[in-house]
Amino acid sequence: MLSFNNLPVPAEGEKIEIREDRLYVPNRPIIPFIEGDGTGRDIWRAASRVFNAAVEKAYRGERRVVWYEVFAGEKAYNKFGEWLPRDTVEAIREFTVAIKGPLTTPVGGGIRSLNVTLRQVLDLYACVRPVRWYPGVPSPVKHPEKLDVVIFRENTEDVYAGIEFRQGTEQAQKVIEFLRSLGYTVRPDSGIGIKPISIFATKRLVRKAIRYALDTGRRVVTLVHKGNIMKFTEGAFRDWGYQLAQEEFGEVTVTEQELWEQYGGKLPEGRILINDRIADSMFQQVLTRPDEYSVIVTPNLNGDYLSDACAAQVGGLGLAPGANIGDHIALFEATHGTAPKYADKDVINPSAVILAGAMMFEYIGWHEAAALIKEAIGRTISQKTVTYDLARLMEGARQVKTSEFATAIIENMG
Ligand code: NAP
Repeated sequence: MLSFNNLPVPAEGEKIEIREDRLYVPNRPIIPFIEGDGTGRDIWRAASRVFNAAVEKAYRGERRVVWYEVFAGEKAYNKFGEWLPRDTVEAIREFTVAIKGPLTTPVGGGIRSLNVTLRQVLDLYACVRPVRWYPGVPSPVKHPEKLDVVIFRENTEDVYAGIEFRQGTEQAQKVIEFLRSLGYTVRPDSGIGIKPISIFATKRLVRKAIRYALDTGRRVVTLVHKGNIMKFTEGAFRDWGYQLAQEEFGEVTVTEQELWEQYGGKLPEGRILINDRIADSMFQQVLTRPDEYSVIVTPNLNGDYLSDACAAQVGGLGLAPGANIGDHIALFEATHGTAPKYADKDVINPSAVILAGAMMFEYIGWHEAAALIKEAIGRTISQKTVTYDLARLMEGARQVKTSEFATAIIENMG
């Protein structure tokens, strides 16, 4: 019998398979989960009840998730003496779709971050962050309902994802000397970061974002870059993005110029608009004209800032789900951390992992279950039944525990 981390794979489930570039999802898919550290335990307990209830309600026993626990973070370290056992990675690879709670970043020991390691070893090149507002959630802007975007942030390149040399090291010195030999002035006491952006990584990300727009009926895909300053990396990202759109989706995409010159500013039925914005202007646009944007594609560092800025507009990280997705393998997660001071207190807001689960169901084509979850969360929050984090910001809220919040969501389904 197949097993990972000495835990047998449940016999009652089946593997999600990849056939002809598409996922084939059985009615009893085995989905690995990493519970997560700190509040991950509280959150997983609550979230898994919501997932099971949504699937049961949507498919009345015809479909069911067969959950399979895999280990990372403190739980893995305590059990196996390793922060990220190889078997955990292999199980995610084997079963294609997985979900995780937040993980503690080990201090020392050579691991930069478990999340980064997972992304790298599984080549999960797209960090996908949907950002939308749920009625009733306190927001710092007047019209939070106008922002409804899905951000595709490149995960494998750019200065943030990559190569840095500490000031004063021999390596930094060598790079400085090399740059000087090419005629660049670099102060000798500099630290160095290198920002590679490739055709390969740009095109596969933009391809994924355009396909997503087509699959979900979203009609604008915006390339966000700082190409006015970094011409050969960020500027090239924009150019390669347009090139890919033209080469592979020419029949269904329209540029802004074509929109005005050929269609009088009205996007024709069945087409999506592909445009671009300079990153600094985009930060203004998501505040001043949020409803003009829908799918955003961007290199790593811009995406890091923009995802959190957008999340703040609709109520913060407690409600922000995300996923790291490769060609097929996808790992869904909350974007917040382990919030350790609340661990095992049954108080934390589980919404982000619950919404990550809804994303996961959409990814495997279980749209009815996803819709039930999203509607029920919306209804629960609009009834002002919320955990402490939202209760402290809402007037007249009924503050409930993590577990009670999950129960309220389940009661609000359908
Ligand atoms: P954090 O765990 O996200 O917590 C920071 C604060 O954000 C909390 O104290 C709490 O604020 C609020 N918060 C976070 N999640 C919440 C939720 N679900 N419901 C309500 N409030 C929530 O960030 P951190 O303290 O910087 O990081 C702690 C650990 O998590 C570190 O080891 C870090 O490396 C790790 N981390 C992991 C991930 C991941 O696995 N994806 C991501 C980020 C950080 P109040 O105190 O104001 O209530």
